[in-house]
Amino acid sequence: MKNYLLRILTDDGGLRGVIAVTSALTSEVASRHRAFPLATAALGYGLTGALLLGALLKVQQHVVLKVTGDGPLGKIVAESDSYGHCRAYVGEPQLPSYGAITPELVAEALGNSGFLTVVKDIGLAELYQSTVPLQTGFLDADLTWYLNQSEQTASVVEIDALVDAGGTVLAAGGLLLQTLPAGSLQTLIQISERLDDLPPIGKLLADGQTPEAIVDALFAPIGYSITEKRPVEFRCGCSAQRSLAALALLERDELDELIASESAQVDCHFCGQQYTFSRAELEGLL
Ligand SMILES: [Zn+2]
Repeated sequence: MKNYLLRILTDDGGLRGVIAVTSALTSEVASRHRAFPLATAALGYGLTGALLLGALLKVQQHVVLKVTGDGPLGKIVAESDSYGHCRAYVGEPQLPSYGAITPELVAEALGNSGFLTVVKDIGLAELYQSTVPLQTGFLDADLTWYLNQSEQTASVVEIDALVDAGGTVLAAGGLLLQTLPAGSLQTLIQISERLDDLPPIGKLLADGQTPEAIVDALFAPIGYSITEKRPVEFRCGCSAQRSLAALALLERDELDELIASESAQVDCHFCGQQYTFSRAELEGLL
């Protein structure tokens, strides 16, 4: 199945939804990072979460989702824009694990305490940034908590990434439901109860259900339309120019040290691309 997302609006204009299938995308990003099974699932959670939040943005806006914990996985960082382009990395891509990967294993690898940070570039001079303590280590539950508490928007998020012991992504995807100003909490509750009655979204996708069929099972009783269908794909926005601009933010003595060593190398965490800058380019930053 090609990876894509659907945006849904109920006929009464009171609720919007986003559903994304991200299995192939998760496999691609995991292989770029040579990720082991546990990190592969974590990448699937992060990519899906960022895409769901990104689908709520307006054109040319983008969002960064960062989960940091005190466990051995370290962190998950994922970014998406409103066009369905996304990228992600984790702290320890080769963290060992045994057996099939469960959401509990990923939560455990993130640790007992940590933070969820959402940074949005919505085209204003300042970035919007909000950090909340991790509640559970399950990214969907934590995102649900974040949207309700921090953004004060009644929302429900479900994310699933089924990865077997060999690291094969069986299915990854997620769903976000959100009440709009004209809507009632009752509609959100009704649809999320239907969602609870269904098997987890990863299981549905792995069994060959399409996102369209899942949407219909949830929304048909109240009426809805699919307002957008968009492919989702990996894209890294890094460039030599941006990496050099990052070096320009270093303190003068750190920059002097790099110049003394004749060259500097910057590695992109997201895609592994390496950028090397000569002494002359570094001196140009002074
Ligand atoms: Zn890159």
